[in-house]
Amino acid sequence: APLIEVRGVTVRYDIARTGTSLMAVEGVNLDIAEGEFVTVLGPSGCGKTTVMNVIAGLVQPTEGTVTVDGRIVTGPGPDRAVVFQDYALLPWRSVFDNVRFGLEMQSTLNSGDWRERVQNAIELVGLAGFEQSYPRELSGGMQQRVGLARAIVAEPRILLMDEPLGAVDALTREVMRDEIEKLITATGKTVIFITHSIEEAILLGDRIVVFKSHPGAVLEEITVDLPRP
Ligand code: ADP
Ligand code: ADP
Repeated sequence: APLIEVRGVTVRYDIARTGTSLMAVEGVNLDIAEGEFVTVLGPSGCGKTTVMNVIAGLVQPTEGTVTVDGRIVTGPGPDRAVVFQDYALLPWRSVFDNVRFGLEMQSTLNSGDWRERVQNAIELVGLAGFEQSYPRELSGGMQQRVGLARAIVAEPRILLMDEPLGAVDALTREVMRDEIEKLITATGKTVIFITHSIEEAILLGDRIVVFKSHPGAVLEEITVDLPRP
């Protein structure tokens, strides 16, 4: 069975101000196998982030279910971690303490070797020596490395990446794209990676899922399987 099964997921957001609701995604089905690197393309506003947030357990679907390893997702869990486009770092915390937060969220901080795990994650993303720096002292690319370290520190099976390189300059983006590919290949994680870059989608993905928006906010999902070299 696929590791992740998205079944008939519909999300309507209530708009409190107007008392109406907005159909963000409708009837989405998606299967993702263990170890797959799936890239997701589609126009702004078509619901990519919403579907990812349902898989992350951050948004409850109005209809439908997501299962991970056969268990229905009802909230966040240690098997899934998210990397956000805007990094979402805690500005008052050092790099080390931001990465430590990845363990705190999963309440795995009680394991005896937590300091070592934080340090290893920081080294894996190339930030050794910056442990005591603060986010504002770092470039965009480096801040996203912190976001990546925070996501991998608890060793989740699934990495959910929402345009992780979208706010990083073009040169750094290319470097980090290759680094992410190496990191994922080495760890065998299952990845869902939202991007606006067709190049990124092709270079990183084992499979590309295209979300297409139609009038009436109905989505169509097109899957293209890519041969691997
Ligand atoms: P994408 O990631 O493809 O850009 P999103 O999932 O962010 O799309 O958004 C899908 C639709 O849902 C958009 O019309 C967006 O404005 C709307 N939307 C997203 N989040 C919310 C929210 N929290 N409340 C109301 N509407 C939202
Ligand atoms: P931005 O994403 O804001 O354009 P970059 O990530 O390209 O910034 O980095 C800007 C500066 O920070 C460069 O001078 C780069 O050499 C330096 N830098 C980036 N990552 C590291 C690192 N891991 N170690 C040391 N310096 C780094």
